[in-house]
Amino acid sequence: MTTPWTCPFCPLLCDDLAVRVGQPDGSFELVGGDCALAQAAIKRFATTPSTATPTLNGQACGLDAAISAAARVLAGSRQPLFAGLGTDVAGARALYRLACDSGAISDAAQGAALMHGQRTLQDHGGFVTTLAEVRTRADLIVFVGGLQTQTAPRLWQRCGMGEDTVSERHIVILGGSADDVDALGGLAQVSAESVPLQGDLFETVALLGALVAGRTLHEAPPALAALAARLHAARYAVFVGAVADLPAQGALIMEGLYRAVSELNRRTRAAVLWVGGGDGAGTVNQAFTWLSGLPLRSRAGPGGLEHEPLLFDASRLLADGAVDALLWVSSFDPTASPPATTLPQIVLGHPASAPAPRGAGADLVFIPVSTPGIGSAGHLFRTDGGVVLPLFPVYRDGLPGVAEVLGRLTAALGSLRAGAGA
Ligand code: SF4
Repeated sequence: MTTPWTCPFCPLLCDDLAVRVGQPDGSFELVGGDCALAQAAIKRFATTPSTATPTLNGQACGLDAAISAAARVLAGSRQPLFAGLGTDVAGARALYRLACDSGAISDAAQGAALMHGQRTLQDHGGFVTTLAEVRTRADLIVFVGGLQTQTAPRLWQRCGMGEDTVSERHIVILGGSADDVDALGGLAQVSAESVPLQGDLFETVALLGALVAGRTLHEAPPALAALAARLHAARYAVFVGAVADLPAQGALIMEGLYRAVSELNRRTRAAVLWVGGGDGAGTVNQAFTWLSGLPLRSRAGPGGLEHEPLLFDASRLLADGAVDALLWVSSFDPTASPPATTLPQIVLGHPASAPAPRGAGADLVFIPVSTPGIGSAGHLFRTDGGVVLPLFPVYRDGLPGVAEVLGRLTAALGSLRAGAGA
């Protein structure tokens, strides 16, 4: 049996594949196309309802007991941290309510990468586009740093390569490997070349921007000068990059590309497509922004709303001892473990991600939750930001969703505080 499916395992959210359930070996199988990342991900799920139970300090317990213990952890915290944030729209909304009630700081597992885009938008603005636009209109696509096959294996297919939606496309891999060009070999109506970096990506993008702006640079390599000319000659040029692959201070690279795009847009058409925000990070960022007006790395505390893109980095807060409890949410990726800490901890995750017990007296609550798009329905934002896709369960795993658990936790926290105040 196959079922309509939206793959939740990378920011592309492919909805042209399906999952066949009930293979002879009892596993799921991807049908309608290939993707090593999705295939490996679905193999981590059993096809039968889960028997996993919550645990308290490593001992099995009921959901009610786990929620009561989690509420006590939050009630006893002066500054909680919500991190990971691997959930869908409903989970994000529930997270935001609990963050407001508890004064928590929230940062995603990919917080640093997310902040590159956020800071660029705040400081500079940008010209972004959608997968559909790239697929149907872009005649020049510049992949920044490589084809991003690790982050989003079907990215080049989703950009329309191998289809006849655009009569002729030229692909430039800026700083990619020969393998990247080989991967595109033989595709109809596609020509591809690799342009090496000049120094690092910062320097290359700065040089390219200057060339696009018409400055004469005697030290510029001919390949970059040719790329600048190609960009001007294209009908619709699109830079495609993965935010997680950008180095520290990657916002400067993003700004450099936007400056080049601004220049091109005076006479032709150009844009950027950023791939990122997977495992729910982009979705939670969107939901927090529409609910509060601020993105992640924010806090709704006694002093009102605060946004600190550097200070509210989860790893920095933990290293500095600036938080005293951790709520970790990871409903998509069982390998995304919470950071090592001795703080009181609440973990909402895939049944396989139960943390190792820390001994009697430690506050460690684990609640196994359903994975949207596998064991339950849900919604996620796609990498291009304006598109929300529904997730369909391929079976019912019998586990509670993040939104349900957090809703009950918020109520339990309220009751605990009301009881303490009575
Ligand atoms: S490219 Fe990404 S969304 Fe598409 S099937 Fe692979 S893992 Fe899933």
